[in-house]
Amino acid sequence: TDFQQVASRLIRAIEDWPEDGVTFRDITPLLADPAGLAATVEALVDAARALGPIDVVAGVEARGFLLAPLIAEALGTGLVPVRKAGKLPAARLTEAYALEYAEAVIEIHADAVTEGARVLIVDDVLATGGTLAAAVRLFERAGAEVAGALVLIELPALGGRDVLAGVPLTALLEY
Ligand code: IMP
Repeated sequence: TDFQQVASRLIRAIEDWPEDGVTFRDITPLLADPAGLAATVEALVDAARALGPIDVVAGVEARGFLLAPLIAEALGTGLVPVRKAGKLPAARLTEAYALEYAEAVIEIHADAVTEGARVLIVDDVLATGGTLAAAVRLFERAGAEVAGALVLIELPALGGRDVLAGVPLTALLEY
């Protein structure tokens, strides 16, 4: 597709970043390019529509924040941020998940979604799945229904799809 062509040209691989042995997929050149951004939004919105009715789009800090608003505005839904610990001011729900050598914590406001709302969770990259799985737990605890998870890039070798068993997962690209 148009998106796959422009994305494979403009997403760059940075070797040994943020640490040795990791290949970081950098989407900033794709978003900086007018045709790249337009094709990205179109592909994300098409994928979101295929998941059925969506009431709210949630973006995961930080790079999910670059994508989720574009989708929410196109679908005519609301937008909810999934934030790192300590950033949200009102009553919140918290989930921790394991990183390689540490723990990460993400949060949503306890009143961010209404009971039964169909939520689409958006991030840039699915790696081990820890981040998106924690986001799914947050919205389930809030009483929402997770309609799906949507990422630009899946790294299938890291097994994130299995960690998200039961949640419809759409990835626009695999590396
Ligand atoms: P996971 O929790 O292991 O699935 O890691 C996913 C999180 O790490 C996402 O929030 C991504 O933004 C980030 N991430 C992991 N690998 C990459 C990468 O190659 N490029 C950009 N972000 C990445």
